[in-house]
Amino acid sequence: MVKKITNGLSILLILSVLSVSQEYNPSEEMLKVIKLTDKIYKLQCISGTYTNLLASVGEDGILLVDTGYQQTGDILKQEIKKLGNGQVKIVVNTHEHNDHVLGNKKFADEAVIISHERVRKAYSGEYFALNAISRPGIPQVVFKDELTIFFNGEEVKLRHYPGGHSLGDVAVYFTKSKIVFVGDMVFAGCFPTADISRGGDLKLCLKNVQKIIDDYPEDSAFINGHGPDYSTEDLKKYLEVGITTQKMIEDEIEKGKTIKEILRSDLLADWKKWGEGVVSNEEWINCVYQQYLKENNKSRVSISKPLTEAITRSDIKEVVKLYKQLRQNEPDKYNFAENQLNILGYQLLARNMVKGAIEIFKLNVEAYPESGNVYDSLAEAYMNDGNRELAIKFYLKSLEKDPSNDNARGMLKRLGYKKE
Ligand SMILES: [Zn+2]
Repeated sequence: MVKKITNGLSILLILSVLSVSQEYNPSEEMLKVIKLTDKIYKLQCISGTYTNLLASVGEDGILLVDTGYQQTGDILKQEIKKLGNGQVKIVVNTHEHNDHVLGNKKFADEAVIISHERVRKAYSGEYFALNAISRPGIPQVVFKDELTIFFNGEEVKLRHYPGGHSLGDVAVYFTKSKIVFVGDMVFAGCFPTADISRGGDLKLCLKNVQKIIDDYPEDSAFINGHGPDYSTEDLKKYLEVGITTQKMIEDEIEKGKTIKEILRSDLLADWKKWGEGVVSNEEWINCVYQQYLKENNKSRVSISKPLTEAITRSDIKEVVKLYKQLRQNEPDKYNFAENQLNILGYQLLARNMVKGAIEIFKLNVEAYPESGNVYDSLAEAYMNDGNRELAIKFYLKSLEKDPSNDNARGMLKRLGYKKE
């Protein structure tokens, strides 16, 4: 269940309708290659939904922008070689989200991987005071604002746009080809989206679209992380829809409407087709809502922050004690939402700190006894600890609270549990 809670952009994993070619070609189910110019190719990695990548292929070899999903990494590596004789010399990541970076490790042995500095941080798994988790394919060269690469006869300009869709957003401008790859700063054909729970900001995201319009020549072609290619005119339209609907939703929230009420009110009826892609009406309303909460709770710090600091210097019993003290004495200073401890617990699991994770998940069970998800997480930690009995107990508890939890059902099967 970690995805449900930690991935602010779980929408990216939801199936969307794909236009797969009629001709059968095994690789086309996972990868499509589209030639844009003599040197520039667009590649679509397909896994449920699809992510666009860009490759410059020529005398210097191959420069690849983004690497797609982990499961499409092998086919991407195999197919990209067919485009030219050279090797992949450089990989650039447009931002830190999984569907853009998890193919990196397939190129770690041959390419220099470049990104904004925040991508390296996020990709290495650094979490508050906890140490980073090292992985193959982590960016080796990072930059702050701008970086220019001279490759295949043109200047390739990388520019960071701060704090919008994610923390590490970068546009990659192929100056001679007049092609700009903007990653997920633009969700072409859909409503915009920002990873607010991990540092993104919806209003900055929209401002960045305006900056993109201003920063590049009017006749540029814009390639987006998902969806169709855009012209400057398309970008203007996209921005207008984003700003207009964001304001409308925000007005409803100010009136005290809930997400469900806004959804039922058909507020977005005039923009029906915009909600039919990877960002549904509900996701869009929720994104505006998260932004609203963020703007109105600016001073609240995640409870995970003081806890991770405590974890690095004292044992878990002290950490539990600190949590209880803070919850009692400073309930308004910290964000005690369910997902905060859940993310922390999974961060500990990823570092093999299983006993600590169990104690953190137990605190969440205490705080949110009606949530199916907190029991599911605790069960998973017990499973990691080799405690089959307690893992079964809490998966059953999770199912009791949330009968739709198929993950718990699958895990019980894996644990060999049979109903009496
Ligand atoms: Zn993204």
